[in-house]
Amino acid sequence: MTMTTMTRPASITADREKAELTIVWEDGHKSVYSFSLLRHACPCAECAGGHENMHRDPDPVVFYLPEIEDSPKVRISGIDPVGNYGINILWEDGHHYGIYNWDYLRKLCPCEECQKAREAAGLVPDEETIAKEIERRTNPPKPQIQIEFTL
Ligand SMILES: [Zn+2]
Ligand SMILES: [Zn+2]
Repeated sequence: MTMTTMTRPASITADREKAELTIVWEDGHKSVYSFSLLRHACPCAECAGGHENMHRDPDPVVFYLPEIEDSPKVRISGIDPVGNYGINILWEDGHHYGIYNWDYLRKLCPCEECQKAREAAGLVPDEETIAKEIERRTNPPKPQIQIEFTL
């Protein structure tokens, strides 16, 4: 595989029982994502820690975060296609801001082959980066701007 593939999904299947989303790609590759990984990798600005941290590619740290326990945060209530380039995942806790495009999802494939390719490319966060990211996600910073209504 190459890291710049533009392969599209041939099928997308969400299994709420197993909390897994399976994509079979047009080139035959199969990706099985836990809902927890998808939530960790939500590409919206809020989850990524601000617009400056929004990556075109998944942050490698998402593969090293502890699995999120079963809760509305990791239950999918719906999946909407976005144009012909991606999907929008609707979570039971109301979060619905992340648009996962095909390229992003392919790079998020957690299979052994793709993980080895990421390791070979040096996409392995150090312990400190992982610890900081867990802390940031546990205690997200509060918005610094207060908006008041006068009426
Ligand atoms: Zn998000
Ligand atoms: Zn893969």
